[in-house]
Amino acid sequence: MSKRGQPLFQPVRHLVSRITSHPGASRLTALFLLITVVLVALSVGYVIGTRDTQTDAAVMRQGTASALSAHIASQDDLCNTIERSELERALSQEKALSQVLNESLEAQQNALLQQQSEMNSLEDRILSALMKNYESQLISRSSGTVDNYRQEAEELIDLKKRLNQFEASEDAAEVDLADYRQSLDNRLDRIPTRWPVYGRISSGFGNRTHPVYHRPDFHPAIDIVADRGTSIRATATGYVAEASSDSSRGRYLIIDHGNGFKTVFMHCSSLKVSSGQTVEKGQVIATVGSTGTSTGPHLHYEIHLYGQPVNPVRFILE
Ligand SMILES: [Zn+2]
Repeated sequence: MSKRGQPLFQPVRHLVSRITSHPGASRLTALFLLITVVLVALSVGYVIGTRDTQTDAAVMRQGTASALSAHIASQDDLCNTIERSELERALSQEKALSQVLNESLEAQQNALLQQQSEMNSLEDRILSALMKNYESQLISRSSGTVDNYRQEAEELIDLKKRLNQFEASEDAAEVDLADYRQSLDNRLDRIPTRWPVYGRISSGFGNRTHPVYHRPDFHPAIDIVADRGTSIRATATGYVAEASSDSSRGRYLIIDHGNGFKTVFMHCSSLKVSSGQTVEKGQVIATVGSTGTSTGPHLHYEIHLYGQPVNPVRFILE
């Protein structure tokens, strides 16, 4: 306590020395005062210390709360981030799926269009092939010469063959050619292209010596030898213009085909149709005989085009 060189305790030492040196004061009183001073000092220190501690706790609490809220906020952020990324992933999956579906749909549509266009082009090719010379046939029909009709008939028959071949193929199922076939048939049916009866031609078209009168004669027909009673068939569609008999022609028929053509059948043993009746190509119209001026059973068959007899052989194509 009496140590020199310690200025901090200088006032206390001074006080103590003053007390102790006071003559009226006892040492006990001085000690009491000293203890009191120390206690007061300690109390003040405690109060200050407590205050600091309380402030620290508040600060700590405050710090913890803000840390907690920051933590919650960061958790929220994390949740949001996870949620968003999951949504984005789901969305992108949906998008991908929808794109796949779209692509598939598009592919199907393209395939359908492709198929349709192939079908159309196939149909076009077939029709253009089949309809070849259709225009020229119409023109030739209006000029109506033997050559034009024959050419038309040949082309129609060729088209029909190709149509039959096509209809036997796999592609045919895809195309409906019924109308076209009907149109072909209608046109071909008006031209006398078939045999009225099958047999040997005993006398041709043109100049000859008459078999009965033995003089020069123009034969406007072909004579086809066949057994008596053999069916005679219409060589084209038309109507019966005449169904009659006389001493020269015997029982005979004249069929009008309505397009400049008429066909004549003579020396029949019987007639199966009557005047004004409609007949189809191939229909039985009479039977072979030897009526009228005839030396034996045969069919005398004529084709007239606009009133002029033409060689039937030129038209027998089927
Ligand atoms: Zn004859």
